[in-house]
Amino acid sequence: MSSSTLDVAEAIRQLATERVAPSAVAVDRNRAFPQESLDALADGGWFGLLVPEEFGGHGGGLVALAQACEELGSACASTAMVFLMHSVTAATIAGGGGLQAGDYLSAMADGKLLGTLAFSERGTGAHFYAPELVAVEQNGRIRIRGRKSFVTSGGHAGIYLVLTQSSSAGLDCHAVTPADGIRFDGEWEGLGMRGNSSVAAEFDCAIDASSRIGDSGAGQALVFGAVAPYFLVGLAAVNLGIASAALAATIGHAATRRYSDGSSLAEIQSIQHALAGMDIATRSARLLVHAAAAAGEAADETALVQLMEAKVLATDTAAVVTQSALEVCGGQGFTPALPIERHLRDARAGAVMAPTNGVLRNWIGKALAGLPVP
Ligand SMILES: Cc1cc2nc3c(=O)[nH]c(=O)nc-3n(C[C@H](O)[C@H](O)[C@H](O)COP(=O)(O)OP(=O)(O)OC[C@H]3O[C@@H](n4cnc5c(N)ncnc54)[C@H](O)[C@@H]3O)c2cc1C
Repeated sequence: MSSSTLDVAEAIRQLATERVAPSAVAVDRNRAFPQESLDALADGGWFGLLVPEEFGGHGGGLVALAQACEELGSACASTAMVFLMHSVTAATIAGGGGLQAGDYLSAMADGKLLGTLAFSERGTGAHFYAPELVAVEQNGRIRIRGRKSFVTSGGHAGIYLVLTQSSSAGLDCHAVTPADGIRFDGEWEGLGMRGNSSVAAEFDCAIDASSRIGDSGAGQALVFGAVAPYFLVGLAAVNLGIASAALAATIGHAATRRYSDGSSLAEIQSIQHALAGMDIATRSARLLVHAAAAAGEAADETALVQLMEAKVLATDTAAVVTQSALEVCGGQGFTPALPIERHLRDARAGAVMAPTNGVLRNWIGKALAGLPVP
């Protein structure tokens, strides 16, 4: 089932155009979880993009993830976000291993199990890598009681990777299913990414130790070795997709919007400069995202800095490009008559998703200066 990265980009582009993009407006307007789009991805075998081939997946890496996320981000940012969290979950399970890891991965590759991460907490905010929730060992079981916030696909996923303080030392990562005891709170009311159901989750469960991903205390290594590279590249690529879609819609509008004298918006020089700026910014960000993904796959020593910079650049670029799109399209861009206002709202999430761009700038500076990160 192995696929070249070129096949991934082309196949996902076709699927995104035919099966994901048509419902993007309704997903956004109704804050609907994008189930039909996800079913299309599952049916196509794409839930296994990052699942190793031995468990029935494609065995894809960072470059394949970047290509898939850009295509999906362009079609429907909510679907792309859910797919990204699922794919990062698969990469984390594959990287960490564990007694049930093979079962989880096979079910994910089969499209039967949607995964996500429950890392963030109210008390630690952007510092998701330092959770306060403690997993306590009791009578041979692991007891997890407490709350996680902003859980993408909350209430819809079948497996949640929960980051906790270990009862011995360090951090642990546990795979928890709804049947183990999870209650989801409230509705997702975010500005953008409206279909991704990032709700709070209350855990009250006693799970078997076999559901731990990786060794006890290996959570921090998993966060920085498995979660971070895939999440940074994937989120960067989702935002490239948003910027590309906004650019394409803006070019289309500028070329076809005509005044009474027959002239078009595109004939105005300041509009031409705006289009040029949007294209230069998007193309530059894409180069860094793909270079960082390739460096990560090659285990290049500069990969971590490149990956962090790629997330900062691509998310900032999406925010700037969608703002330019609004200015070029004017009042019409401010209404749902054009997709610009949706792209603009979707593009606001990237910078504040952890590791946030503020935190990443700290880490990039530290890494460049030879200081330990975080
Ligand atoms: C759409 C969406 C989906 C999400 N999905 C998930 C998910 O699936 N799983 C999950 O676990 N989490 C998820 N999150 C949570 C997210 O990754 C962050 O953890 C969360 O947004 C932190 O929000 P906060 O308001 O608590 O941040 P705060 O910690 O209050 O930070 C506020 C601001 O201060 C800045 N800041 C804080 N500390 C520093 C510092 N030391 N240096 C520089 N700047 C700093 C931050 O950059 C940020 O801009 C999601 C968030 C969003 C918006």
